[in-house]
Amino acid sequence: MSSVSVTILQAGHCTCPEHIAIQGGRWRNIRFPAMFALIEHPRCGPMLFDTGYSERFFRETRRFPNRLYRLATPVTLEQKQMAQFQLAERGIRPVDIERVFISHFHADHIAALGDFSQARYVYLPQGYAAVRSLGGWRALARAYLPGLLPSDFTERAAPMDMAAARPLPPEYAPFTVGFDLLGDESLLAVELPGHATGQMGLLARTENGTTFFFVADAAWLMRSIASNRLPHALANLIFSHPRLYRLTLAQLHRFHISRPEVRIIPSHCEETLAQYTG
Ligand SMILES: [Zn+2]
Repeated sequence: MSSVSVTILQAGHCTCPEHIAIQGGRWRNIRFPAMFALIEHPRCGPMLFDTGYSERFFRETRRFPNRLYRLATPVTLEQKQMAQFQLAERGIRPVDIERVFISHFHADHIAALGDFSQARYVYLPQGYAAVRSLGGWRALARAYLPGLLPSDFTERAAPMDMAAARPLPPEYAPFTVGFDLLGDESLLAVELPGHATGQMGLLARTENGTTFFFVADAAWLMRSIASNRLPHALANLIFSHPRLYRLTLAQLHRFHISRPEVRIIPSHCEETLAQYTG
């Protein structure tokens, strides 16, 4: 069994009313940071989980209809926050990034994919299948901006082999099936459907014995998981499968109760991210 080191970072943020993010939330805007994680493995080198926003997001949302995306969720991004610049501060060049694990294809998770020219893109095949043929309004309705994918995306794509799914050890209950991404149990992928088709969560075991569980947008706030509290019903409009969303959230709640030591990281929970990003 091997382990990885994990650095939690964020590239930009948008704002959203708290009462949309969680039932009973206040009538004020809160920040939704766009988390990405640097994962360093002794054999496979540096990898990313998602990418956050990038300048490309602003290029792609300059014109209508895509401009509506930016108007609905106003985005703030300083250039130095972009993944490639934060990695450079750590001595990592964009070409050093071996793989990018894509939780799902919403713009705030994939906007910087094109900055990593040597990376393979790892994702659940049904996640990309659900959006790949969409363009214009239909893509926008799924928060997917096709122009964010680099032109050689398909050549570098490494979708996971669904036949490689295997039972997870009982300690991960109620999650029973996962994917051993590097073959050494350091990174386990788990499907977390509902928010987006084929959304992928990632369990990362670190060298000091801590386990992180990156759950992407399965919940926007850690409070939702801790109390099994759903977002406002309006959020169902953007979820691929609201019923599965509820199921996934309930599973995360149960997991959190039984394994409180596992650090669950929802991609947009400012309170959670502040504990790691300072
Ligand atoms: Zn999303």
